[in-house]
Amino acid sequence: MKNLIAFLLIASTASLLNAQSHSHAGAQPLSYPNIEGYVTLKTDLHQHTVFSDGNVWPTIRVHEALRENLDAISLTEHLEYQPHKKDIPHPDRNRSFKLALDEAKNHDLLIVHGSEITRSAPVGHSNALFITDANQLLSENDAIPFKEAKKQNAFVFWNHPYWSAQNPDGNPHLSDFQKARIKNGELHGIEVINSVDYSEESLALALENNLTIMGTSDIHGLIDWDYTEKGNHRPITLVFAKEKSLESLQEALFAGRTVAIFNSLLVGKEAYLKPLLASSINIISATYLKDKSILKVELQNVSSSDLLFENQMPYTFYNQSPVFTIPAEGRLTLEIKTLEVLETLNLKLKALGAFTAPKQQPVIEWTITVEKYPSVVILIE
Ligand SMILES: [Zn+2]
Ligand SMILES: [Zn+2]
Repeated sequence: MKNLIAFLLIASTASLLNAQSHSHAGAQPLSYPNIEGYVTLKTDLHQHTVFSDGNVWPTIRVHEALRENLDAISLTEHLEYQPHKKDIPHPDRNRSFKLALDEAKNHDLLIVHGSEITRSAPVGHSNALFITDANQLLSENDAIPFKEAKKQNAFVFWNHPYWSAQNPDGNPHLSDFQKARIKNGELHGIEVINSVDYSEESLALALENNLTIMGTSDIHGLIDWDYTEKGNHRPITLVFAKEKSLESLQEALFAGRTVAIFNSLLVGKEAYLKPLLASSINIISATYLKDKSILKVELQNVSSSDLLFENQMPYTFYNQSPVFTIPAEGRLTLEIKTLEVLETLNLKLKALGAFTAPKQQPVIEWTITVEKYPSVVILIE
């Protein structure tokens, strides 16, 4: 009997340990705040598996996304480039999507049906998302896949337009083909960040042609090996949606409500990047040092990006360089020499790692109410 109880205890402890080891403690879940009126969806909408030139089964992509707390992914297999075809023959180009969808069915992860239309320059590579049948996009002709994607109400974006394998100068060149696709409503977005690369010229093209700004991992191997172990997060696109659903995600992408992120680099239209940065910083406390006109402000960064700022106030700091970083999910205290005791402070900082246009960084303002006044008020007439 004693032995049985001991066995049961061991068995229940073991199952408890198993339950705990299922938690994703080793991964680095990503976190970004909502902005007013929208939920912030963390997405990686350009990935590969063995169903094109990737190295993993689609289920692995689902588990990687769950470990990192993503809201939506797409397995955008090359329609035409099929190096594993001999080992994995699959006449149905929707197979990768179906396997991922099945794996994600008991999880809060959106699986977007997508495919990569793959051509040499100047057509290049493009992802079609929210398609209904990938097989219909297969064609020898360059324009037909785009026409078919439009018929399926797909959101289409231009992948790594600056890719040096197709553009030796490392810059994107908007060809007549892309101009025609934009004019026909067949091209809606552009990657400004792909894997570890960022292209300011692609951002310029996005703004000039009102294309949605995208950032993606384009992962072929493992996220842990290619990004996490090298000290990076995978690039993602934050999408500001009315709710967490495929329909809302699609609507938000067509409307251009995105910010592309790679580590501490944030790229987006001002209308979305500024509120994202404002919401990423919480004011924990604001009090004057005793008998001094030095205001101590404690700031908390609730995002998974290190945020780099430069002071834009008329006041200088007592304890910090005018350029400073608030670490991802960390805190920092500023001691601000306000010269007189203020009731409210307009904290004004330029976000040096964030870009609303090439070489253009946004200035963010927070109105801070000072909590306490010093016991001996000084420097007040
Ligand atoms: Zn590609
Ligand atoms: Zn790709």
